[in-house]
Amino acid sequence: MYLKRYLSKNLTVFRSLRFGKIFSTSTIHRYNVTVGVGGNIGDVKRRFERLFVELKKDKRVTLLETSLILKNPPFGFRDQDDFFNSIIVLQVSMQPYVFLNYLLRLEKKFARKRSFANAPRTLDLDIIFFDNRIIKTNKLTIPHASWSQRESVVLPLKSMQLVNQR
Ligand code: ADP
Ligand code: MG
Repeated sequence: MYLKRYLSKNLTVFRSLRFGKIFSTSTIHRYNVTVGVGGNIGDVKRRFERLFVELKKDKRVTLLETSLILKNPPFGFRDQDDFFNSIIVLQVSMQPYVFLNYLLRLEKKFARKRSFANAPRTLDLDIIFFDNRIIKTNKLTIPHASWSQRESVVLPLKSMQLVNQR
């Protein structure tokens, strides 16, 4: 069940029991990480819900907060379906590269296949922030390279409470 709201002709937000909520303010783990979640193939909202369940039962992460789900047009390669995007804030004790591999494994589990840049995808998991770390290597750029120019990241972030209090 989703509560649906139109922001404009192209932008729609969805709220559910799992998306658009604060779950915990715990400090079991060491680092706060902000993860961008996206996809545009098949039933993406359902996949987000399954991802949530997966994260919830994993002791290596603590779910702090989720943003609403934003439906928005693709950028780059435009001849593809609209994207669904959300933000999940977690606590982890993994180091950045370990956490990146953790996310890449999760993408695989949800049948992500890499083809070309900005191609359609079932599930894209990006690290937007990792505590207050700054990393610039071939494998990892933190904060995420273009987060502040992307509506798909900025709009969900703005709707979040814990993030905006920091
Ligand atoms: P994109 O998300 O830019 O569309 P991909 O999801 O295919 O592209 O990511 C390709 C690679 O981007 C990953 O294997 C990873 O090594 C690298 N990468 C660099 N910075 C980040 C980041 N902040 N979060 C996730 N992946 C990143
Ligand atoms: Mg990615």
